[in-house]
This record gives sequence, structure tokens and C-alpha cells, in this order.
Amino acid sequence: MHCPFCGADDTKVIDSRLVAEGNQVRRRRQCLTCAERYTTYETAELVMPRIKKSDGGREPFNEDKLRSGILRALEKRPVDTEDVENAVNRIKHKLRTTGERELPSRVVGEAVMAELRNMDGVAYVRFASVYRDFQDVQDFSEVVRDLSTVRDG
Ligand SMILES: [Zn+2]
Repeated sequence: MHCPFCGADDTKVIDSRLVAEGNQVRRRRQCLTCAERYTTYETAELVMPRIKKSDGGREPFNEDKLRSGILRALEKRPVDTEDVENAVNRIKHKLRTTGERELPSRVVGEAVMAELRNMDGVAYVRFASVYRDFQDVQDFSEVVRDLSTVRDG
């Protein structure tokens, strides 16, 4: 990159180290022309995929919406805020690492259900009943079958 001080093309890296728990590289650079020093940071660009809705529309991934959906299912349930945040982060990680630019909303819904299933049986059923809307008997029996292996609390 160009020197931010004099605009020269050539800079050299004089120091390079991992920061942010290894998720970022910090580089000290020095301009070969004016000798000024500056720092650059390099991170992987991991973009959240866009969400393809069942009606065919697309929308940007919305973390607040994801969190509020989970919290609504967990209302008055004995689950820590920290556990909710961890679940949100695991879901985001899962979606990002697919490497897809677009994902059907179903994938997000299934990821939420998997997390709720581990956290709280009641919340899981609440979410599943709204999310799946029990559109057919097949869905319903799937949820009931899943339930038989989940213990409340
Ligand atoms: Zn310079």
C-alpha cells in the first residue's frame, strides 16, 4: 500500500505479530522514501451470508433478529444470558463457515433449533412450534419425536 504520509509506493514491514487472539495480524511498516512508520492490521474477511426467505426474497443476516427470536423462545426459562450469547456466536460461526453467499432461512432456523434443543426443552418446543408452524403432520411428529429425547431443564 502507499505510504499515508508521502504517498510513496515502497514500504517495508519491520515487525509483524498476531493480535486479537490470533485473529488479526498487526504489521509495523516503514516508508522507504520518507522513513515514517505506521501500523496496518490484517483480518480475514468473513462475510455473513445473505438469507434467502421462503418467499424467495433476500435479506441481510440480522443478528438482533436472531437473538430476539432465541430470547423470545427462552422467555422466563432458567437460561443465562451468557449461554444465549454463546449460542448466537456458535450460530454465526456456523453460518459464516459454510462459505456460501446465500443461505435459505431454513438453515438459520435449524441452527437455532439445534442450540435451543441443548439449552432448554421448553424453549425448543416453543421455537419449533412457531418456526415450523406445524404445517404438516410430518413436521409435528418430527418435533414430538425429537422431544422424547430431550429433558426439560
Ligand atoms: Zn513516506
